[in-house]
Amino acid sequence: MKIDLHCHSNCSDGALSVEQLIDRACSLDVKILALTDHDTINGVEQAMHIAADRLKIIPALELSVTWNDKQIHIVGLGIDIDSTALIDLINEQNQRRKERALNIGKKLEKLGFKDAYANTKALSGSDDSIITRGNYARYLYSIKAACSVDDAFNTYLKQGKKAYVKTQWVSLQNGIAIIKQSGGIAVLAHPKRYPLTNMKLCELIEDFKSAGGEAMEVSNCGQSLTERDYLSKLCLKYNLLASCGSDFHHEGVFRELGHNIEIPQANTSVLEHDRVKRFL
Ligand code: AMP
Ligand code: MN
Ligand code: MN
Ligand code: MN
Repeated sequence: MKIDLHCHSNCSDGALSVEQLIDRACSLDVKILALTDHDTINGVEQAMHIAADRLKIIPALELSVTWNDKQIHIVGLGIDIDSTALIDLINEQNQRRKERALNIGKKLEKLGFKDAYANTKALSGSDDSIITRGNYARYLYSIKAACSVDDAFNTYLKQGKKAYVKTQWVSLQNGIAIIKQSGGIAVLAHPKRYPLTNMKLCELIEDFKSAGGEAMEVSNCGQSLTERDYLSKLCLKYNLLASCGSDFHHEGVFRELGHNIEIPQANTSVLEHDRVKRFL
């Protein structure tokens, strides 16, 4: 059965509306989907409504947190979208995101990209959409200031580049505590995508676990079998549940909803957790 527990709509930096995303998931025969937009749950209710009995939706989000001065992503899976603690945190994060997006825009203006913020915003889903560096990258690519989204990151948006803006997100500890308080479970997203040595990644996982984190992503569609095997073993070593997700944002790249992702047999799936099971 195809499952995908990490993807984005245009409520944050995905290209598709919630409706288009659900239609795409259905047409690809995905049976269980978690919509994990960056620091927002705006699309979740609509996703559940549109999905109806076509596929199961697990309410979720992808929270940006700060750990040891680094930006880490934690998926909150199976959250209660009415939780006031979660809503308060989301409001704080959105304020940080808005300031950061404006500051990235100002830096790009200085580099000659007039109205960068307004133009990037105009390409997003709605006035409420969360603007990430992903949105800016797609804008820069659309005006041919970069030859790919990846190139836009490498030239302008990555740490150390001219339009990079550092942000202090909620701490790893507080982020996880609020995910738990809101009935969800904390999943460490794409562990191999941080600029961390294997030793530092183990330190991150240890801190994540001490803070109450319960699962990690083991499988995504673009990875090598060696990487999947490594993450599967790490997941067992730290006695975490295993999750999987495409991190789909838009078509045209190797990432696709539910494609080539499965939880290795050796691991216990996050879907076994009661807090997630209640949505199946
Ligand atoms: P932010 O949370 O604003 O820092 O933006 C992070 C988002 O940018 C990620 O969720 C990805 O969608 C996207 N992203 C980060 N690095 C890259 C990259 N090298 N190439 C393409 N997209 C990236
Ligand atoms: Mn993104
Ligand atoms: Mn992420
Ligand atoms: Mn993501």
